[in-house]
Amino acid sequence: MINTVMGEIKKSELGVVSSHEHIFIDMRKCVDITGDEPQCFYDKVSCENRAEVFAKPYAILDNALLDEYDLALKEMEYFKKSGGQTIIDCTPDEIGRDPLLLKNVSEESGINIVLGCGHYYKKAHAPYVKDATVDDFAAEMYKDITEGVGNTGIKAGIIGEIGTSEPFYDDEKKAVRAAGIVSAKTGKAIHIHTDLYCENGYEIVDILTKEGASPERICIDHIDVLLRPDYIKDLLNMGVYVEFDNFGKEFYVSEKTRFAYDLERIKLLKQLIDEGYGKKILICNDICLKTMWRSYGGQGYAHILETVKYMALENGIDENTYMSMITENVAAFIE
Ligand SMILES: [Zn+2]
Repeated sequence: MINTVMGEIKKSELGVVSSHEHIFIDMRKCVDITGDEPQCFYDKVSCENRAEVFAKPYAILDNALLDEYDLALKEMEYFKKSGGQTIIDCTPDEIGRDPLLLKNVSEESGINIVLGCGHYYKKAHAPYVKDATVDDFAAEMYKDITEGVGNTGIKAGIIGEIGTSEPFYDDEKKAVRAAGIVSAKTGKAIHIHTDLYCENGYEIVDILTKEGASPERICIDHIDVLLRPDYIKDLLNMGVYVEFDNFGKEFYVSEKTRFAYDLERIKLLKQLIDEGYGKKILICNDICLKTMWRSYGGQGYAHILETVKYMALENGIDENTYMSMITENVAAFIE
């Protein structure tokens, strides 16, 4: 059975799932402030200044905040209209997890929402994290999954996204180890945020499996910003899932750090499917910016059911295979 914010559901009730999203999030503490900010930095995002964040998503700080309930509901409606039924919300506490608000969204929209747990990367950590032990982290997550978050009674259904950076900090390693322990104990799946340009996936899988987590319950996220087929295949050969979760993000900060374009992601996806890896790939948008919402001119949560799907079919991925990545694959991944 799968824990959702509205209670347990059967795997067969998941339907079309976006495997990693954020409905409410506050990433502002993760934005580096250098003193060299553009003039618009403290403005509110609007249609007039949207162009400022096309290349650099944090040129406006407000872009890192999703906190509008009515708009969130509207976004769910778009997702539902395109065939979406379930969203896995991977927001850790440190960046705005709000179980009660998500429960309201689920109740009003009819979209199943699976809640995450655990710690994000170092930049977001609260001071107590430094002194906490692996067992402390494991106890927090175990409680979130088995009893519920705080006194809400709302249970987490997935572990993560657990944050890691480059370099991979000791405090983050504690959280990863704890995730492995709790997954081994509960059978819950784990989402791991990796730095966009690093290859820490090897070490992460090693830590998690040493703690008893099954590779079948591990997903290495964000492997589609810098496309490295060999790294991706190495991870897949370790038996874990990889997630193409940046559909809709095509930022050109600089040539060295530019985000792959959706079409490039699809072409690599086709190649991986042809090589027999299709069952271990998840796809989604990992929405974490205002401008990704339709209300702010973005493609919204339905992007993977609209343009991305069209792109996939046009590039030779058959519809059944494509749809299985947002249905069967996710159902096989989570418990
Ligand atoms: Zn995320």
